[in-house]
Order: sequence, then C-alpha cells, then structure tokens
Amino acid sequence: MLEAESLSKLRILLWDIDGTILLSKVSGSYKRYFASTMEKVFGSAGELDSVMPSGMTDTQIMYEALKSRNLTPEDILSKRSLLLRVFREEMLKVLECKAEGFFVLNGVREALEKTSLYKDVFVNALLTGNLSVAAEIKLRSVGLWDYFADSPNAFGEISCDRKVLASYVAGLFQNKYDFNFSPQQFIIIGDTPNDIVTARSFGAKVISVATGKYSYEDLLRYKPDAVFDDLSDTEKFLETLQNV
Ligand SMILES: [Mg+2]
Repeated sequence: MLEAESLSKLRILLWDIDGTILLSKVSGSYKRYFASTMEKVFGSAGELDSVMPSGMTDTQIMYEALKSRNLTPEDILSKRSLLLRVFREEMLKVLECKAEGFFVLNGVREALEKTSLYKDVFVNALLTGNLSVAAEIKLRSVGLWDYFADSPNAFGEISCDRKVLASYVAGLFQNKYDFNFSPQQFIIIGDTPNDIVTARSFGAKVISVATGKYSYEDLLRYKPDAVFDDLSDTEKFLETLQNV
C-alpha cells in the first residue's frame, strides 16, 4: 500500500469503454442482445430502436426505451441480478457469431500498458455505463480486462444516471485505500459530452477523445480539460494526465 503522501498525488484514471477503449465491429449490434434481454426480463424492448445510447448507462438505455410503458428507473434496477444473468447469456449468444466483436481504439492498449507501469503515479479503473457483465465480456475479448479486474470500478447497474457513478466509484476508492482522495485526483476519460458533465458534477478532471460519435469540435464546446483526436500519441497523453 502507498503512503498518504503518495496517495495524495495519485492520479485515478476512470475509463469509459464504448467509443473510448473500444468499438463494436458491427455498429448497432448491441440492439440484438439488449432487445432479447429486455424481452425476457421486462416483457418488452419498448422503443429501443429510437434511443440514442451514447453516454448513457445500460440501465438508462433500458429505462428510456421502456418509460412509455410506465417503468421507472427503480423498476429497472430492482431486477438487477436477473438482468445481469440474462444479459450475459444473450450477449454471449450474439457474440458467438464470429463477425461480431470489438476492436481496440488507437493507442489505448499502449496507454494502459504505460500507465500501469507507474503504480505510484496512476491507477486505472472503469467508470462505464456498461453492465459489469458486458464490460467484462468486451474487455476480455480484446485482452484488456486484466488492467481492471482488481480495480474499484463503477458499472451501469449502479444507476440509470451516469453522474451517480462518479461519487460511487470515489467511495470505492476511499474504502480500498482508506484515504480521502480529492475529486481533482480523478480523471475521467471518455468520448461523449455526458462524460464531461459527469466529471464536472463531481469535480473531477476530464479528458475527451473524439473516437466515438462526437467530433473534436463537438467535445471542445463542453470545455473538457483536454481533447484528443485519438490516444495514438502515448507520450502526449501521459504528459496531459500529469498536467490537467
Ligand atoms: Mg462512451
């Protein structure tokens, strides 16, 4: 364990997954396992086709699709354990078809490798809207799960509101290290305006990457601490992590 002085300098990197670490090889293929899961757990996929999922938690996507049928966020979250079990089964079924799957975005593998070498400077963890089962399946499929397996992570089953995940993950860090980290020690790395809003609501730093649905200019409008086209320049990314 690190001493209090080192802990006060630690930079906690909170990674988003979709559009930041990786992307699906088949755009929109998530709808197949979302729809079959929602039918089994909630009896309907509702208006899933009209939901714009970027930046939402998986449970929020389900809520948005089902709210016209009078389901509340609490109704969705109350089915948490069934939801995780069915989602995992349905996702694996779809991914068995080899054309499906995920690819790692430019520079991410190198950024994780490099940052994990400096254990007294950086910690990698997840702040993702993905359900925990989805995060693990996706990251395992591209060989990156081990970077996060033992980290305090925040997943989509915690809340339908991404902003809640930031204070949740901070609480996990406080418990694990028995240290009260300041909000500015957390750096959210994400591809959507929602990642920026989440960081600001908590007081965290935020680095945006234009590797998802939003352009560099789109993201700049929300005033993140830094924006990258992608993470291919590892040195520049590491330098930015130190200086934001
Ligand atoms: Mg994302």
